[in-house]
Amino acid sequence: MDKNLIKAHITSETFKEGVKSFIEFARARSIRGVIACPCLRCCNVKHWDVGTCHGHILRYGFLPGYTNWSVHGETSEPLQPSRPSFVQNTTFGDDEIRSLVHDALGLTDENVGESSPKSHRRG
Ligand SMILES: [Zn+2]
Repeated sequence: MDKNLIKAHITSETFKEGVKSFIEFARARSIRGVIACPCLRCCNVKHWDVGTCHGHILRYGFLPGYTNWSVHGETSEPLQPSRPSFVQNTTFGDDEIRSLVHDALGLTDENVGESSPKSHRRG
């Protein structure tokens, strides 16, 4: 919708139409009819039912600069193509993995070699 309506003068019909549009927008996304009040006094901090908020906005004015109604469920429009820029280059060398596996299994060179004869039979 045209959010410039909200920027119109508070007593103008344009403003009232804009507020009505906002209320309809917020009501559809409200939780049990309760929304954050974007009037100049509540500044999206306090929560009232949509009817009370409607009255607040008409009386105190719409919070200036609140054009992206993210508080009221509007998803922010992507300004730039979303592309992950946090790709990390973490590569493990094969040798590193192999040594880790050897440590885990307890494989050492000592076990691989031939066992030295210690037992001597004597009659
Ligand atoms: Zn309010």
